[in-house]
Amino acid sequence: MRAVTYNEAFRITGAANTDPGVPAVTAEAGARWIEVYLAASANNRYVQGGGCTSVGAAGGFIQGGGYGSFSKRFGTGAGSVLEFEVVTSGGQMLIANAAQNTDLFWALRGGGGGTFGVVTKVTLRAHERPNTIGILRGTITAPDDDSFKTLIERFVAFYPQAVNNPSWGEQIAIRKDNSFEMFLTYLDLDEAAALAVWAPLTDGLPEGFVVDLAAKTHPFAGMWDLDYWKETDPGFVSIDQSPGGRPDLFWWALNQGEVTGFIDTYQSRWLPIDHFAPDNTDALTQVLFDASRHAHLRLQINKGLSGAPDDVLAREQETSVNPLVREAAAIVILTSRQAPRFPGVPGHEPDLAKGRKAAADIDAALAILRTATPGGGTYMNEADYFEPDWQQSFYGVHYDRLLAIKRRYDPTNLFKVHHGVGSEF
Ligand SMILES: Cc1cc2nc3c(=O)[nH]c(=O)nc-3n(C[C@H](O)[C@H](O)[C@H](O)COP(=O)(O)OP(=O)(O)OC[C@H]3O[C@@H](n4cnc5c(N)ncnc54)[C@H](O)[C@@H]3O)c2cc1C
Repeated sequence: MRAVTYNEAFRITGAANTDPGVPAVTAEAGARWIEVYLAASANNRYVQGGGCTSVGAAGGFIQGGGYGSFSKRFGTGAGSVLEFEVVTSGGQMLIANAAQNTDLFWALRGGGGGTFGVVTKVTLRAHERPNTIGILRGTITAPDDDSFKTLIERFVAFYPQAVNNPSWGEQIAIRKDNSFEMFLTYLDLDEAAALAVWAPLTDGLPEGFVVDLAAKTHPFAGMWDLDYWKETDPGFVSIDQSPGGRPDLFWWALNQGEVTGFIDTYQSRWLPIDHFAPDNTDALTQVLFDASRHAHLRLQINKGLSGAPDDVLAREQETSVNPLVREAAAIVILTSRQAPRFPGVPGHEPDLAKGRKAAADIDAALAILRTATPGGGTYMNEADYFEPDWQQSFYGVHYDRLLAIKRRYDPTNLFKVHHGVGSEF
């Protein structure tokens, strides 16, 4: 079930004949994002999927919300869904869209995978393609703890105006070793303009700081074009060399460690934008500094949707994605991974003592973030397996409505996944 088709004027099933339709891509349940991106790209369009090209387009990603590098411009994957084809636990094949089974349509756009039915096909809005994509990488290193705190303070004041907008995505790591490590994407800016955005943060830093940032802009048309990467930066991609695989497909080399990774822990928390308000910056600075003494904090700016365009936020409001994300400046992700490691294979076992120590450090860092964000939450697809109060944390104010829809479409509770809606019964 890997067919992917592009339609210049898709009309949802049941729409009036007068409806002009919108550009869209329909993907069967087995299609991966790279296949969907290629179909959209061949038609000069972009579909909002995930950063990692090997993740499935119709499954847990999109049903849990789903964020890619450009989500501050285009929103969640769920927000772009026009229609699902679903098989219910009773064996019925249904269409869920804005015209029919609207409650199921809402629930599938953010209420979590493996819960409401088996999605066999998804149709996604195909957006206007940006002209360019850029990557800004590098580090800012402070000479000591006090200077690092000053850097965080400057960053907290700088972030809302400079970076919390549709141009920027990906991540800034606030590191234990008193440095910021950036891997950021930017849309429709040339290299000088992209670097200029960061000048207010980096210019005038006192002696002892080391700033090493570089930007490179690419045509967006090259983004999913393997030949383009082979020519310009072959080390940036890994080609699918699996037996029976597709050598025309690829994933980012940066994701390679995930292929053989043993995850010690994976935790996260949304960082509300109001914490960056002038009255709150001192408190946020202290929180980020204190938490960073225990573990690296990765601020993924595309996984918080404050700063997104109004039309995107309006579309998001129609989904069941936890509304806390619309007030979030970023998500903070804290992880520890050993790679390559293969449990059960002598000589390649993960180091469990090291893993437990890393997990304890991350617990300590997250405890500080949790205390600072009471009533907060996080993104279910990239969260702690042991997340406390997960109904509130993942689904927030939507939980009761999601549970009622779950009971309507899956009355025997056949579909039950860890921390899915209704899994506690
Ligand atoms: C390498 C990697 C990179 C990632 N990058 C990102 C990223 O950039 N952005 C982001 O938002 N998330 C990212 N994630 C997290 C990702 O969103 C989740 O792992 C997600 O659950 C993957 O869904 P899946 O269907 O591919 O996986 P699975 O593990 O197969 O499924 C996850 C859940 O969805 C259910 N499910 C799967 N298919 C269906 C279906 N057709 N119908 C109904 N239920 C279904 C399953 O039962 C399961 O409960 C990444 C994950 C990995 C492993």
